[in-house]
Amino acid sequence: MTTIELETISPPAGTRCTDVLADTLEGYAGIENVEFDLESGQLKAVFDERIISNESALQVINKAGQIAATRAIQCAAKKEHGVAACANCAGAMGEMLIAQYQTAATLPVANIQNGVIEASLNQPHLTVGEERTVSTSSHEKEDVNEEQGGFTLTQEKKEVILTIVTLLTALAGFIGTRTGMEPMLIAVLYGVAYVAGGWYGVQASIDALREKQINVDLLMILAAIGAAFVGQPAEGAILLFLFSLSNTLQSYAMDRSRKAIEKLLDLRPATATLKRGEKWIDVPIDELLLGDTVIVRPGERFPIDGSVTNGQSEVDQAAITGESVPVHKNINDNVFAGTVNGTGALEIKVTRLAKDTTLARIVQMVEDAQSTKAQTQRMLDDFEQVYALIVLGAAALLIVVPYFLLGEAFQPTFYRAMTWLVVASPCALVISTPASILSAIANGARNGVLFKGGVHLEKTATLKVLAFDKTGTLTHGMPEMTEIIPLSDMDEDGLLRLTAALEARSEHPLAKSIVRSAHERDLDLPPSTNFRAIPGQGVEGKVEGKTLWIGNERLFEERGVAIPADVLSRARSIEDEGQTVMYAYAAPNFLGLLAVADTLREDAVEMIKALKAAGIERVVMLTGDNPRVAAKIAERAGVDEYHANLLPQDKVTVLKNLQQKYGPVAMVGDGVNDAPSLATADIGIAMGGAGTDVAIETADVVLMSDDLEKIPFAIGLARHAKKVVWQNLVFALAVIVLLVAGAFGANLALPLGVVGHEGSTVLVVLNGLRLLGYKA
Ligand code: ADP
Ligand code: MG
Repeated sequence: MTTIELETISPPAGTRCTDVLADTLEGYAGIENVEFDLESGQLKAVFDERIISNESALQVINKAGQIAATRAIQCAAKKEHGVAACANCAGAMGEMLIAQYQTAATLPVANIQNGVIEASLNQPHLTVGEERTVSTSSHEKEDVNEEQGGFTLTQEKKEVILTIVTLLTALAGFIGTRTGMEPMLIAVLYGVAYVAGGWYGVQASIDALREKQINVDLLMILAAIGAAFVGQPAEGAILLFLFSLSNTLQSYAMDRSRKAIEKLLDLRPATATLKRGEKWIDVPIDELLLGDTVIVRPGERFPIDGSVTNGQSEVDQAAITGESVPVHKNINDNVFAGTVNGTGALEIKVTRLAKDTTLARIVQMVEDAQSTKAQTQRMLDDFEQVYALIVLGAAALLIVVPYFLLGEAFQPTFYRAMTWLVVASPCALVISTPASILSAIANGARNGVLFKGGVHLEKTATLKVLAFDKTGTLTHGMPEMTEIIPLSDMDEDGLLRLTAALEARSEHPLAKSIVRSAHERDLDLPPSTNFRAIPGQGVEGKVEGKTLWIGNERLFEERGVAIPADVLSRARSIEDEGQTVMYAYAAPNFLGLLAVADTLREDAVEMIKALKAAGIERVVMLTGDNPRVAAKIAERAGVDEYHANLLPQDKVTVLKNLQQKYGPVAMVGDGVNDAPSLATADIGIAMGGAGTDVAIETADVVLMSDDLEKIPFAIGLARHAKKVVWQNLVFALAVIVLLVAGAFGANLALPLGVVGHEGSTVLVVLNGLRLLGYKA
């Protein structure tokens, strides 16, 4: 094993790599100037605060730096020293930056002020083996698990064994009593039954007591001890047996929901076929590095996230997006670990390490979501405290008052108090919510709908209004170029070439359609510099010495540049047909107009109808596009109201108004330039999460696919989960009332009380489990 540190490889390579880093970052909207010293890891970046938030800027820069550092280390690990290797490294690094700049990372310690970031970027201290190994944390974790698996029993197995021991010893004790067995032996048998049956309950009670809390386990244990105290050890043992049986069943059932998601990870093959030089070799997926080329044969599952470099195929992405219709993949398209290749062989370039794949992140996120508590559950937890205290206090009163004050017999009084302890304790109530929420979250994840937590699931059930971003959500977001109108001495190609050169740097769908159309005409695009995106308005930058502005009316209004009347009327008449017009301007002249048409998605109308049917009161469309286009699309889609000409911050204001007027509001967007509105809404829903990490980070609910049908599904699932939670609560309460009435009115025997109590607990869990199978 040799350890290679960054400094040992950076000097000759350093300059070029850092250039790539700086260059790529400067191309990102909002980042203006970057200086990066690979050797010291010091980075200084200047960014425009109006365009990119401090957090986003930090994320972008931190990630870029990490990638640069990792890449350099990986080059060294491959023993490709020298200048050529560095050029490779730099080239690959640039591509990585583009592919990954959106990935959120933990923020480094940095100084951000007035649009300047100074950061000391993490330089991962990777250990490099003889050939090529990069130690990953997931790797290490697996090793530990394996070791534990070899030597110790799992918790579940222990629970099962203890439950069986309880049953057998209790039975033996009971039979022994009937057949006149030695009393000492009987005592020992019941003793064992008590210890085995109460093992986990006592532990849980002690844990809770340490935190000055009492829980239902304590009530059960006290009742069992009480039963033994009044000479009914058999009933106490039955109590403990049923108690531990029901706990075992519960953890088994809950695990089914948890494992439903973990199993997704098993979908990945353990090894990948890697191209090394001219040879193809199989390597464990943990050893794949960014930029490696991997072959995926027809019918195989993808071992890793990557982008296609050779071949075409249909890919079944159901594992990620929940959608079984295959997606066509061509060169440069992204593919995801765990999805299934169709009939074509594909070569892909690795874009994420095995531990960072979309699939791994989904699993991680669902696990996080399942471990956060829903609102109802928090309430129930607080309630459990108060309630358990009351039950305990009442039990004491039930002994003290009849025995000491009313002079009733001790044995039946005490026995009744123990029955009360059991039947009144809220086991079923406590488990009613988590059982349902876990299942609903698991179901969603399997269908490509990620709820970030129980709270979000519950809130989704209460939504009254859904607001949609227009572009890319209600419309395809792939606008077609419809008209190119030069207004100066340029011809169509000249205008297109110049504008496309600048728009090539923008992420906006409009920009992409301009660039696409330039490519279709085989135009060579000149380089552009000083690029800047003005959200909701357009872009500016320099091409061939000209400072170019491309954008909507608002861009020019705000900059005090009057649009000539004839140009304006021409643009308006195109907009009246539902097309979006962009003005291209280089002072002092308007160079031309570019018109594009974005079409409504075929399934939008259906989806909106389904939302209404599901009980959503109002569907709203928000857009930065002009009112004429907005009106057309709104009418066709059948939304209740629309707001046009909005800047990102205006969308926030509109959402707040909607909240006040109607109640809980969800915002649906693509998550890339909608972050503020996604955050403002009660629930932010991001679509197409499989492609964009930003969406996954900022939204409360992430739809992995672009499929609009998933929105009514998500709302339906959330509402159904809420219903099941209520069913459970009502049922659990009803059983308690019934059993308590039985205990006092009909002298209910303790074992029957236990059966009713534990039985209702198991039923509540099973009812929650039904949510795993919910379908739209
Ligand atoms: P939407 O609600 O449609 O997502 P945006 O806020 O993304 O709206 O954009 C609003 C308007 O700003 C667009 O309709 C367009 O006129 C203008 N615009 C935004 N980005 C660009 C760009 N890259 N090039 C030209 N115009 C742009
Ligand atoms: Mg948008």
